[in-house]
Amino acid sequence: MKKISTVLTAIDFSDSSDNAFQMALSLAKSFSAKLLVLHVINEPVNLRGFYVPHISFEKLEEEIEEGAQKMMESFCRSNLVDFTDYECLIVAGLPYEQIIKQAEEKSADLIVLGTHGRTGIDHVLFGSTAEKVVRKSDVPVLTVKLGE
Ligand code: AMP
Repeated sequence: MKKISTVLTAIDFSDSSDNAFQMALSLAKSFSAKLLVLHVINEPVNLRGFYVPHISFEKLEEEIEEGAQKMMESFCRSNLVDFTDYECLIVAGLPYEQIIKQAEEKSADLIVLGTHGRTGIDHVLFGSTAEKVVRKSDVPVLTVKLGE
């Protein structure tokens, strides 16, 4: 039987991803696995150097990164009090691409996602990130639906 040594959970700080994170944490504890907590800064690729001069974009990016870092630190401080085998990752790019890339690069055995994220569109079964990761990832994916 394949051992689950590394679980990657992708968080966008929504209720749905918080809920998926709790599932990922339980699984990591049960399997004695390492937990990777990934947040992807959704890059406004189309805006880069187009509407805003390059210099102010760099400043904006710096501030976004700092803000994301702070949110991640605060999230981990409050949610990972009794668990130490974890690593937080913040990268920029397209969320679904980065989730798959990081899972492959870090040899994750399982990806855990919420079915929906911050966009919170209710009427579809999966949000677009969840749907793309499920369709394109070679690493198994567990999606967790947030109850009513
Ligand atoms: P969505 O498909 O965008 O509605 O989001 C579904 C799930 O994908 C969320 O509950 C998160 O687990 C994950 N996710 C979405 N966006 C991001 C992001 N920017 N960084 C990390 N995980 C994300």
